Amino acid sequence: MSAGFVQAAYIVAALLFIMSLAGLSKHETAKAGCWYGIVGMAIALVATIFGPETQGHWWIVIAMVIGAVLGIQRALKVEMTEMPELVAILHSFVGLAAVLVGFNSYFAPHGVMDSVMQNIHDVEVFLGIFIGAVTFTGSIVAFGKLRGIINSKALSLPHRHKLNLAAVVVSVLLMFTFVGDASLFPLILMTIIALAFGWHLVASIGGADMPVVVSMLNSYSGWAAAAAGFMLNNDLLIVTGALVGSSGAILSYIMCKAMNRSFISVIAGGFGNDVQASSDEEQGEHRETNAEEVAELLKNASSVIITPGYGMAVAQAQYPVAEITQKLRDKGINVRFGIHPVAGRLPGHMNVLLAEAKVPYDVVLEMDEINEDFPDTDVVLVIGANDTVNPAALDDPNSPIAGMPVLEVWKAQNVIVFKRSMAVGYAGVQNPLFFKDNTQMLFGDAKERVDDILKAL
Ligand code: NDP
Repeated sequence: MSAGFVQAAYIVAALLFIMSLAGLSKHETAKAGCWYGIVGMAIALVATIFGPETQGHWWIVIAMVIGAVLGIQRALKVEMTEMPELVAILHSFVGLAAVLVGFNSYFAPHGVMDSVMQNIHDVEVFLGIFIGAVTFTGSIVAFGKLRGIINSKALSLPHRHKLNLAAVVVSVLLMFTFVGDASLFPLILMTIIALAFGWHLVASIGGADMPVVVSMLNSYSGWAAAAAGFMLNNDLLIVTGALVGSSGAILSYIMCKAMNRSFISVIAGGFGNDVQASSDEEQGEHRETNAEEVAELLKNASSVIITPGYGMAVAQAQYPVAEITQKLRDKGINVRFGIHPVAGRLPGHMNVLLAEAKVPYDVVLEMDEINEDFPDTDVVLVIGANDTVNPAALDDPNSPIAGMPVLEVWKAQNVIVFKRSMAVGYAGVQNPLFFKDNTQMLFGDAKERVDDILKAL
């Protein structure tokens, strides 16, 4: 394949990646967006592997086949609820790859460069390894926290901010040393510091901030790939890395806004450390209901809002939920969904599940679009959601989730909460919603209870 052909293929692939991102931003076009991405990546791989600069293509093809078999096997087995873990561990591979490419670039013989080019090359190597190493260990910790292997509480070492700052300052100083004489010692020392820094950075962020962390690591993995692109002189890798890096950063920003937290405070960590006693103390009596009563309530309602959360995903209740929606809509009842930006365990988690169950897109609304409608709503079904419907976020300044915008479900006439027990949600905070006068608890597995309601209807 000639160099010109490869460049042309790269431009087509870059356009497809941009179309993919545009497609993924809306429900209706998300599937097409996936396909654009797949086709773009296939073109990029074929052009790179069989391009003039690549030697030993068949070794690469063999490695890719092994990787693909392992990847497909994992992807087929992974539960939707484990998806963030999978994403986190995949980011760690990108980070590790950037570190390896960096060292390879350092050791590989490259022709004589003038001093400016040599300095640029050294900076690329240094930054590529730094970002890659931070992404690598940071993603492993995020994986461990999401999987429950590592305690999801924020690690709070004494002087942790100073430690982070020192890691960055020492790394910058090492970069100046390295760019001067390109010796191996500062590079290795920085790699060790960056590995420890990445680990500490994510370990000191509490579980409730993991969505932002995963998307932040997504951004880092993009910048690590872009740095590798500079080292390998591969334009498409630079473009792709920049697309991933900036879209990850924008997503992190949107999520921070949704949680009313500043990006810096998330990165600086410590959230979820200081659960106040007030959040856990006895909040009063809760009332229980049963499926028949809820079915009766729904039959007599004219407007219903369903706010799903992580529990709907665990129970796989989306299919009977879709059936109930259809049944009630057939009776002329206005049924809509309110989706919190961080409901579930990954951005868009609920949207994917509801789309899977063929719930029409036009009744699935975002928090901002539906929050004002709760006072005019007869029944709200809170299906496996907890933190995202917690009034303490607005009422209790001492709550660890204070300031996070939430779905204001308690303003409706009746609230039915589907969960198995009075246990707390992801952030480990008790929920005063369960003790309000207009709230009734429907205990049990969400799928079984929704099935019961369906029968009663
Ligand atoms: P939560 O995680 O706060 O609560 C889920 C609730 O579902 C629990 O209270 C649990 O109660 C209940 N539940 C679990 N299994 C079942 C079941 N089989 N049937 C019925 N109920 C069940 O959910 P939210 O979606 O409201 O909040 C998401 C949280 O996760 C937020 O704190 C968010 O910050 C965090 N997060 C979000 C990510 C994202 O990107 N969306 C990523 C990582 C974390 P019980 O045990 O009593 O049944």
